[in-house]
Amino acid sequence: MSIDLEIFSPVQQIHDKLFDEQDLKVFIKRDDLIHPLLSGNKWRKLKYPLKQAMAENKAHLVTFGGAYSNHLLATAAAASRFGFRSTGFVRGEEVNNDTLFLCRLHGMQLIFTNRESYRDKPALFEKHFGNDANAYFIDEGGASALGAKGVSELLSELNESYDHIFCACGTGTTAAGIINGINFQKLKTRFHGVPVLKNGEFLRTDINHLLEEPVEYDLHTDYHFGGYAKTTGDLIRFIKRFVSSTGILIDPVYTGKMLFAVYDLAAKGHFPKGSRILAVHTGGIWGLLGMKEKFGE
Ligand SMILES: *Cc1c(COP(=O)(O)O)cnc(C)c1O
Repeated sequence: MSIDLEIFSPVQQIHDKLFDEQDLKVFIKRDDLIHPLLSGNKWRKLKYPLKQAMAENKAHLVTFGGAYSNHLLATAAAASRFGFRSTGFVRGEEVNNDTLFLCRLHGMQLIFTNRESYRDKPALFEKHFGNDANAYFIDEGGASALGAKGVSELLSELNESYDHIFCACGTGTTAAGIINGINFQKLKTRFHGVPVLKNGEFLRTDINHLLEEPVEYDLHTDYHFGGYAKTTGDLIRFIKRFVSSTGILIDPVYTGKMLFAVYDLAAKGHFPKGSRILAVHTGGIWGLLGMKEKFGE
């Protein structure tokens, strides 16, 4: 079986009075539409690791994530689609939720792991699957150079040019892939990452590590809203307004924070008049399901 998905990820313009006032054109690349579960950057990051697993005759994908991990879900969906077995090490005590329900439904075996042992992922892999010649290690979040390689292909799908491109950053693999893609294509586009964790400057080291060539880029580190998977009233109000006025579903963990940054920077006059901005919707809308109560009425 060949490991590929037909990519459906159109670029759509986002209309908002704010952007008219600031003389900006803002667009969104709909990677969320690539697949309902294997969505966004997760498919792009898994593509080459899966090809490598298949080339090495590995039939069992082993990976890691938190109980709401989009990566676990994407790996479970990819495994079932392309004929692999899958195991997910889940950080923390045994729980059940919508994400894990969907992982199991796709045949993923879940191993709940206390935070202490979760830290050393190669050791966990070795302990459980050291004797399984079929097992293939995929790091948490799909973080890897092969992951970045898959993401870099996003740039070759663009038919127009943009002055700025934005994406949310967790591990920074997607950011690195986009920056490499800009570089391969010799584009003049400036990359902007929005770390969803606190003190996101640390990501620079991880991103730079995956860059084919050193490139300047921006990290906007003030849009974490308290830290990973944390939210505020402002963020929730922004998401409600965005979804209800555009029809584009976004999650509060990643894309919500990234788009908040785009709107806020636009309102503050950060971009020169006439700029064209592309925001990448990295998918992960199932993250919403773990946060329903934050949305109130
Ligand atoms: C995992 C994820 C990210 C983070 O990607 P990294 O490559 O780890 O930086 C961004 N957006 C969504 C929706 C995700 O699920």
